[in-house]
Amino acid sequence: MKPLVIRKAGARIWRAKLSAPFSTAKGRHDLLENVLFFVELSGGIRGFGEAAVATHITGETVPETLKNLKEAARQAAGRSLPEFPEIAEQCKEKFGKNKCALAAVEMALLDVLTRHKKMPLWRAFGTRPRTLRTDMTVVLGDVTDAETAARAILRRGIRSFKVKIGRNFGLDLKRVAVIAKIAGKCPVYLDANQGFTAVQTLKFLKELARLKIRPAVIEQPVSKGDWEGLAKVTRESKALVCADESVASIEDAKRLIKEKAAGAINIKFMKTGVLKAYEIACLAKRHGIKLMIGTMMETPLAVTAAAHLAAGLGGFDFVDLDAPFFMAEKITRGNFVTRSGVYDLHKVRAGIGVVPHSRPGLEWEGEEVL
Ligand SMILES: [Mg+2]
Repeated sequence: MKPLVIRKAGARIWRAKLSAPFSTAKGRHDLLENVLFFVELSGGIRGFGEAAVATHITGETVPETLKNLKEAARQAAGRSLPEFPEIAEQCKEKFGKNKCALAAVEMALLDVLTRHKKMPLWRAFGTRPRTLRTDMTVVLGDVTDAETAARAILRRGIRSFKVKIGRNFGLDLKRVAVIAKIAGKCPVYLDANQGFTAVQTLKFLKELARLKIRPAVIEQPVSKGDWEGLAKVTRESKALVCADESVASIEDAKRLIKEKAAGAINIKFMKTGVLKAYEIACLAKRHGIKLMIGTMMETPLAVTAAAHLAAGLGGFDFVDLDAPFFMAEKITRGNFVTRSGVYDLHKVRAGIGVVPHSRPGLEWEGEEVL
């Protein structure tokens, strides 16, 4: 049998308009601007990966990510596919903190490998695909914005609400109250994106309790380095605390477990790469830590890849895979999520099942053709 060789690889910037700005306590996205990476095998099968660049959260930039992925393309071309672990390891060393670039390389390699094996990506993580039901996010805004967004979410059939908070205590309280009323019995998740202190968070939760509102989870209430604050909220409130920005490595996850700093972790490929995300999820499960699957501002390609991990591995109590609902343009083919937020991956035949729309005039940079 001929060895399976990566014949081509390349990267390019990938942009899409959003239906509305995505505002959080840490900044906002007006446009999706990511980097797309591909590898092609000697037989012609292609795999795709996406690096979602969230400069205001991680400090990574599009030029740096593109440069790294062009370099990765040059490194990958000509290598054999079974060298996947070595290629990923080299990228990890070379990219440093540019984790979204690593995520794109690993995603593309996993996509092409599972396409080659004619199996859906979830099979790499488990034996059956669980059906996932995503929440939908109400971004920062005024009370009327919150009400309008919550009603729209309910109308489309989504039954869990994620509310961005953390910039304005009083306004946030009013927004959450309005949304909780519309949500009725549906769970409400809060995400402060590091915007509060521990004392503010405890007060916020107390105020909500007075209104008989109990969020199902509160995500990253305090600054990512404030481990003591995170642990304080966990200790002193009845709420389930989920660490997002605080857990960006396996070491962070171990620290969280040791210090009992939070009861849940938001797993995102872009923080750690795909392989480490899997490792962190397995570690958390072993220690009884609850799991959320989340993404940055990503297209259905990377979001569906994340869905494969959660569906295959199982044990994810919180599903935050709503980014595709914020895109005003369709730049991918293949869709496994319904309008009401149900991800069903049973029908994926091979790989992620989602590919970029090919559009003429879009050049792949750093492409090596052997
Ligand atoms: Mg978050």
